Amino acid sequence: MALKDVDAMGWENQKVEADLHCHTNRSDGTSSPRELVRKAGSLGLAAIGITDHDTIKGWEEAERAGEDYGVEILRGVELSADWRGTEVHMLGYEMEKENTVLVQKLAELGEDRRERLVKILARLKGLGLEVPRSQVEAYAQGDSVGRPHIAQAMVARGYVKTVQEAFSRFLEAGAPAYVPRQKLTPEGAIKLIRQAGGVVVLAHPGIYKVDAGIAMWVKDGLQGIEAIHSEHSKEDTARYIHLAAKYRLLVTGGSDFHGEEIKPEAELGKWGVGMDVVRQIRELAGK
Ligand code: AMP
Ligand code: FE
Ligand code: FE
Ligand code: ZN
Repeated sequence: MALKDVDAMGWENQKVEADLHCHTNRSDGTSSPRELVRKAGSLGLAAIGITDHDTIKGWEEAERAGEDYGVEILRGVELSADWRGTEVHMLGYEMEKENTVLVQKLAELGEDRRERLVKILARLKGLGLEVPRSQVEAYAQGDSVGRPHIAQAMVARGYVKTVQEAFSRFLEAGAPAYVPRQKLTPEGAIKLIRQAGGVVVLAHPGIYKVDAGIAMWVKDGLQGIEAIHSEHSKEDTARYIHLAAKYRLLVTGGSDFHGEEIKPEAELGKWGVGMDVVRQIRELAGK
């Protein structure tokens, strides 16, 4: 939304036309890109951002579905970075379709994820939990295989009742089957998106409280803040709208939809922005 609108009417009253943070089954969402776009269309959304973790393999199918269902697609990605031991996510929008540097880096991150999968499964086996790799990969349609896929296989095999239980007992940092994966630095993620012509936005900063880094990331090329997000409190949203104004950054928003099975609270289309933000992102792309 434009900042004047925030002042005039409050972000809660702004109609969501575009949900700019959505995952598909190319990473850890449960809907195919086509299914996601169909749902967005049926909810009356004019646009969505496809922001899978470390992969852009959902773009093509989403764009084709977008034409069929009358939903504009922003080509996006969500990159994980490590900042002083805290995980920070950067969203990229409207990168070039075939940027060699981006495609190669994502392939490398995908390979690292596959290597980590083998290590996590070995740890689970050591704990007496047999989870076949093929079963995990059946949940991951793309090259971005992650812990949520392992968690789903563990639920299916009856080792745990929910995905959350799989994380808290086995998969999260500090738990017995946790294995870290390769992460970019925030600066590296920003540069990777910018060199591909994309617009870079700090994802859900309210989740990890990294405000101290924002001024530096603006210098590195950060262009927006995702102030509106399903896991942000009203205070978080207000604070980041304020910070965005201070640094003259775009205010973006989205649900972080992963599918009802994974994160039921993050309902598609319940968080987002107006189409003016989509237009601003497209104007900034390539610069
Ligand atoms: P990975 O990409 O394999 O490191 O897994 C990260 C993803 O796991 C995040 O994007 C979240 O969607 C999900 N996740 C992380 N922590 C939890 C948790 N405690 N419960 C459920 N899902 C989680
Ligand atoms: Fe996720
Ligand atoms: Fe995220
Ligand atoms: Zn996300």
